Amino acid sequence: MEEDWGSPGFVEEQFNRWYAQNSDAIPAPIDIAHREFAFLTFHGRTMYRHIQFTTLDELRRYLRANAPSHSYHSSGYYDDPTADMARKGWRGADLVFDIDADHFDLPCQREHDRWRCRNCDTQGTDHPPEICECGKAQFETETWLCERCLQAAKHETQKLLDILIQDFGVATEELTTNFSGNRGYHVHVHSDGMIPLDQQARREIVDYIMATGLEAEHQGFSQRKRGAQPTLAEGGWRGRTARALYDYIQEVEPEEVRSMRLSRRAAKSITEDRERVLATLMKKHPSNVTSLIEPKSLKTVLSRAIKLQASEIDTVVTTDIHRLIRVPKTLHGKTGWQVQTIPYGSLPDYDPLTRAAVITGDPVPLEFRWAPKIKINDVEYGPYEDEQAELPLGAALFYLCKKGARLRR
Ligand SMILES: [Zn+2]
Ligand SMILES: [Zn+2]
Repeated sequence: MEEDWGSPGFVEEQFNRWYAQNSDAIPAPIDIAHREFAFLTFHGRTMYRHIQFTTLDELRRYLRANAPSHSYHSSGYYDDPTADMARKGWRGADLVFDIDADHFDLPCQREHDRWRCRNCDTQGTDHPPEICECGKAQFETETWLCERCLQAAKHETQKLLDILIQDFGVATEELTTNFSGNRGYHVHVHSDGMIPLDQQARREIVDYIMATGLEAEHQGFSQRKRGAQPTLAEGGWRGRTARALYDYIQEVEPEEVRSMRLSRRAAKSITEDRERVLATLMKKHPSNVTSLIEPKSLKTVLSRAIKLQASEIDTVVTTDIHRLIRVPKTLHGKTGWQVQTIPYGSLPDYDPLTRAAVITGDPVPLEFRWAPKIKINDVEYGPYEDEQAELPLGAALFYLCKKGARLRR
């Protein structure tokens, strides 16, 4: 009998074995008894939810007994987590952020992501279009990952952490940063000041972090002079805007300057008189920049510069006060990798490709249909197409969980 692509039975065995040995190392989520838990299994698409564990031991026993393919808990705290949503009695929620390379536009996605129209069978790479040429919008997608998208997600996460700490005054011990197990990171803020915030308040935080509606003229970049001092060292978006422009002008390539269609004078200031603009930002109030780069061009340049400083977070996740988010240190069924907690300060050196494939073992014979290349534990694998290969268990599980291969018995 031919195996199904992904060989879920085999993957489940490996999850079972891992949870049997490692469930006792799953840490206790804060206030476990008031959270809702939810799980997916390797059998069907049903989500088992509204589950409560009053002790950490109950959670660990559940993981050991069921070896779920995906494990979640709520960001919210409830009087009765087992009740249906309307009757749960919401007490508040952690502020959670999801940074996922799925939402980025990266050149590598053309190499490793594909889609197919369920209606007319048209295929393509990268993100699917909003609507297929046949008029339908039913796509099957295959999203993979690589060093570059993981790096991009990490960069966005670091910016988010900086804004939370510098601008919101979040203490590092109130922050938890987790590798999501797939293409991104989750940041949880557990802070007394944030827990009661409603959806609207969380929306405001999202807008601030993404710099939505930020007008540079209110950050000092106005022709009407409002101060004598440079703003580079100031807190909040005022200082960040000045630093954004400084960094951007320092590094921008002539080709990009041309693509922005700035006024001739502005383009010249940014390329040939770069040092003068930088010195102005360093020593004078930002209003002085408007005499070097006129307002319309400045607006264009600033919007690009600010985008580089804002963080690309998923707005839906953060504003949802009932969000289910992955339980730290559990396994992710679409990669076989672990959701890992990264101590504050360690993010720059953290590399999921050498850390997260925690299930290891003897080589496994596989048959591939299609799979891009990836480097796991410093070994390069793939790309594969209609071929057979024998891979160490850690790498094999990744390709199986992504359904690019199946076991060859
Ligand atoms: Zn179509
Ligand atoms: Zn990539």
